[in-house]
Amino acid sequence: MKYIQYKNQRVSKCVFMWSMLFSLAAWGNDHWDSVNVTSVPVADGVYMLMGEGGNIGVSVGEDGTFIIDDQYAELTDKISAAITAVSGTQPRFLLNTHWHGDHAGGNENFGKAGAVIVAHENVRASLLVEKHIPMFKLTKPPSPKAALPVVTFKDQMSLHLNGDDLRLIHVADAHTDGDAIIYFSKANVIHTGDVFFNGFYPFIDTGSDGSIAGMIAGTQVVLDLANDDTRIMPGHGPLANKADLQAFHDMLVQTEANVRKLVDAGKTVDEVIAAKPTAALDARWGNGFLKGDVWVRIVVDGMK
Ligand SMILES: [Zn+2]
Repeated sequence: MKYIQYKNQRVSKCVFMWSMLFSLAAWGNDHWDSVNVTSVPVADGVYMLMGEGGNIGVSVGEDGTFIIDDQYAELTDKISAAITAVSGTQPRFLLNTHWHGDHAGGNENFGKAGAVIVAHENVRASLLVEKHIPMFKLTKPPSPKAALPVVTFKDQMSLHLNGDDLRLIHVADAHTDGDAIIYFSKANVIHTGDVFFNGFYPFIDTGSDGSIAGMIAGTQVVLDLANDDTRIMPGHGPLANKADLQAFHDMLVQTEANVRKLVDAGKTVDEVIAAKPTAALDARWGNGFLKGDVWVRIVVDGMK
């Protein structure tokens, strides 16, 4: 199989279409030049940066700047410019919600620039080794030292910065085995990482022990923290509120129930897909990133 070096990942050329779906679109500098990084105000001193890849959270204030996730290495200059525009300072801390390259691809650049990287211990473990995403035939080589989290946690940790008390909460085996959600308890803001895709079926990395059961439990953790005024930064999609997350959670629950019945009846993966267990959900959720058939295959994979 032919591989090319792309975004710090060896990517087989034959998965170009998959890569398009996975927001790893386009292959040249022209593409990166055309990406706009925009800044969405979320709360006092809190912003969401949208470029390509996962949404970035930014907090600015008296203690400096910290960010949540960093998209792709090729976008670091644009992201840094957007951070400077709202804060004037580069990040002291960088929190990773999980290891995927569309969220942690800029780690090496920000690490070398002096940011202290913080993540769940499984994020560090995944970055240390070669990782694969079989569905997209993606391979991530072991990450360089500067890209690694230097502070890791197991279940929870807190950061006290910029007048807020932040809780980093691990949710197990959801999108990956190392997901963290980040709750700004005073600003009433939550960054969910890829436990929440706002408005469309999510990818679940079953090769990293992700599962729909974990996604359901993880979104419930966020729902329990949130109230109607909470602003929620999803891993992908526009800024959200609790009702948006509740709808996503309900979609997960419905999918899991419908697929579980077929799996428990002894159907093969292809038979489960042919039975179209998400037919009633596809019009609302299946037009963005993953179609219903692909979504069901992921869900079954995560049930094994
Ligand atoms: Zn992800």
